[in-house]
Amino acid sequence: MKVAWFDAEEWEKEYLEGKTSNLEIEFFSDSLTEETVEKAEGFDAVTVFVDSHINEKVLDSLEIDLVACRSTGYDHVDLEAAEENNITVCNVPQYGGSTVAEHTFGLILSLSRKIYEAIRKVDNGSFDHEGLRGFDLHGKKLGVIGTGAIGQNVIKIARGFGMDVVAYDPYGDESLEEELGFMYVSLEDLLDHSDVVSLHCPLTDENRHMLSSEEFELMEDTLLVNTARGALIDTEALIQALEDGSVSGAGLDVLEEECYVEEDIEVMGQLKDECDLELILEDHMLMERDDVLVTPHNAFNSREAMHRIADTTLENLRSKENRV
Ligand code: NAD
Repeated sequence: MKVAWFDAEEWEKEYLEGKTSNLEIEFFSDSLTEETVEKAEGFDAVTVFVDSHINEKVLDSLEIDLVACRSTGYDHVDLEAAEENNITVCNVPQYGGSTVAEHTFGLILSLSRKIYEAIRKVDNGSFDHEGLRGFDLHGKKLGVIGTGAIGQNVIKIARGFGMDVVAYDPYGDESLEEELGFMYVSLEDLLDHSDVVSLHCPLTDENRHMLSSEEFELMEDTLLVNTARGALIDTEALIQALEDGSVSGAGLDVLEEECYVEEDIEVMGQLKDECDLELILEDHMLMERDDVLVTPHNAFNSREAMHRIADTTLENLRSKENRV
């Protein structure tokens, strides 16, 4: 099987050496997009990271029968168009349960104990404590939205910190409540009663902007953390919620428009057509705020997780396991 490996990094070539029997892999550092799709000509399958945009046009141009996503999320692939073209799409469902959960807690602690501000103060030569008082997580309530692989690990860590945990998941597994020590509640109750809210569900057409003005009105002085997908949150409404104090701080690994993660903000004039300029500006307003910490969609990025992704992708290419 001939495989075009897009979004390739140097370490992947080294790591995969000697592991690719039955597969003839060619690596491309580019993402797979309308502009680069011709590079996939003559291959049987492609594998991509979230930077690739596998839209209808790309799928119509591909003569392959498998797209193997090297990610858990697959909202960068038009699944309907893939089905119409008889192309199977696979993901890596289980690489990052603990990895993303650890990053989530990194963000929570950075906000609750003002760690970034403290480091910045020392960098500026100041060792006083002014403005650095945080709060204990012990005894506080964490609201987890989505109790899959990552959400469950977040719950376990939170319990270790002595937090009470509630969760919302329309497809939740009730047996987890006793096993992990939390309670399922409605989304409204979760938002109304949690000191910290953390998102761990996939982005779908149904839950886009699941946190908007109405939901923020239920919150009061709440920390919000999003390591799932940016568009779960209405950015404009979040800025307003930060202004009026219903949200006291936000830790965001994902933003509603991540174009400038790929493109330098200085060259905004040359942004790709699919980038939404209004959203980019709103995201930029968030990044400028002292009460918001942004990391560049990096929660997955541990050595161990990347190895798990590469190994599972090889299995997916060989057997189409983990179809979505
Ligand atoms: P998972 O499939 O194991 O769990 C998702 C959970 O969300 C499931 O229990 C599902 O029932 C629940 N869910 C579905 N719709 C929901 C809704 N509307 N409200 C509440 N819950 C809902 O996935 P996971 O491995 O835990 O990953 C969760 C998400 O995290 C992924 O979909 C992906 O978008 C994101 N992610 C981000 C990074 C990163 O680097 N920032 C890395 C991996 C995954």
